[in-house]
Amino acid sequence: MSDAKKLFIKTYGCQMNVYDSERMAEALGTSGYTTTDVVEDADMILLNTCHIREKAAEKIYSELGRFKGLKAENPDLKIGVAGCVAQAEGAEIMRRQPMVNLVVGPQTYHRLPEMMLEVEAGKKALDTDFPEEDKFDHLAKRPKAKRGPTAFLTVQEGCDKFCAFCVVPYTRGAEVSRPVDRILGEARDLVERGVREITLLGQNVNAYHGAGEGGDYTLARLIWVLNDIDGLERIRFTTSHPNDMDDTLIEAHGACEKLMPYLHLPVQSGSDKVLKGMNRKHTAKEYLRIIERIRKARPDILLSGDFIVGFPGETEDDFQDTMRLIEEVRYGQAYSFKYSTRPGTPAAERAQVDEAAKTERLYRLQALLARQQSEIQNEMIGRDVKVLFEKPGRLDGQMVGKSEYLHAVHVSDPNIATGDIKWVRITGSERNSLGGEILEKTAPVS
Ligand code: SF4
Repeated sequence: MSDAKKLFIKTYGCQMNVYDSERMAEALGTSGYTTTDVVEDADMILLNTCHIREKAAEKIYSELGRFKGLKAENPDLKIGVAGCVAQAEGAEIMRRQPMVNLVVGPQTYHRLPEMMLEVEAGKKALDTDFPEEDKFDHLAKRPKAKRGPTAFLTVQEGCDKFCAFCVVPYTRGAEVSRPVDRILGEARDLVERGVREITLLGQNVNAYHGAGEGGDYTLARLIWVLNDIDGLERIRFTTSHPNDMDDTLIEAHGACEKLMPYLHLPVQSGSDKVLKGMNRKHTAKEYLRIIERIRKARPDILLSGDFIVGFPGETEDDFQDTMRLIEEVRYGQAYSFKYSTRPGTPAAERAQVDEAAKTERLYRLQALLARQQSEIQNEMIGRDVKVLFEKPGRLDGQMVGKSEYLHAVHVSDPNIATGDIKWVRITGSERNSLGGEILEKTAPVS
């Protein structure tokens, strides 16, 4: 019987947290923990939190409250809170939930093994510093075990933009880029373990400026060196700020074979007045001009965006500007939310838009985005796309993967294995996915 301790990690929020959770699990592996998906089996529960959603901290406190029964059954159970709520709340978490043993911020989780020694000695461990050292240099080496065909790789963290609604600059700190050689090393290692597609992550990923051989590397330059890795078939990146879409990155979308034709480029609003209030530092026209240039470089690119409705000061006219911008861009996919306050951010102090107006605007905006998504998916019917298969689908013999455009595509074919890349003819569209048939060919027919 194994005496390995069991770690249950629950991840909230964005892909950067998914990546961080993987690295935290690896770090705790050096303290003897293996992961479990069953919370009742856990010797340690770690919540890797996100501060973006409304009342994020309150939701974590109530989630922690739900562990009281488990703690009563197993007094040795350790409970930790990581991520952006940990950073924002710090010691307050242990004050309000004394059963919490450990609180660790996003920049210090490389210190988890030492923190666990304290916890196992019966002490509380708290670390929400923004340390001098680079956490990635101090993390355990990544294991060599085989893994799935897609992976996230954090290349940049933090944000210097200070949008008036966002907590990220306060919870994740200033923009920092990882050096090129470390990223290349990690990417090669992932490919050796079976990864065929890497998504480069950063809060402001296209603000990447990492040190490398011969000087400073922009994101485009980094993508070009990753493009040379044999066995790596696809590169993506997220999330980007319009002001950091420089010429070289736009050009790479047209010229770099492994860079996929999909771009998530949030604009938040189509009103210049609201964009100014948000401190986005660009106008709607400037955003549209960037989109035009990207589409010139890569005409078939699928665009995705983020929208906030009901930001303080937004009128119906401002909202109509957003609707017009959406009509003009045509998004294949998008995320949209009602504005809600984040304590400590400038917009939280301003007069708020009536809740009913926000709800009604969000309804109209989401209807438009859903129509665009459905139209664009329908336009895919009859087209041939290359799909990287990731996992079995819900039905027997079904496999699901992603097209170049990040559409989920399912096929029924018993001969397809995880990690295969195949040409698929799209035959149907459902709400959030496409269906297709495998083509026995290596090049597209249409
Ligand atoms: S650029 Fe993104 S991460 Fe930075 S403050 Fe704005 S919304 Fe937040």
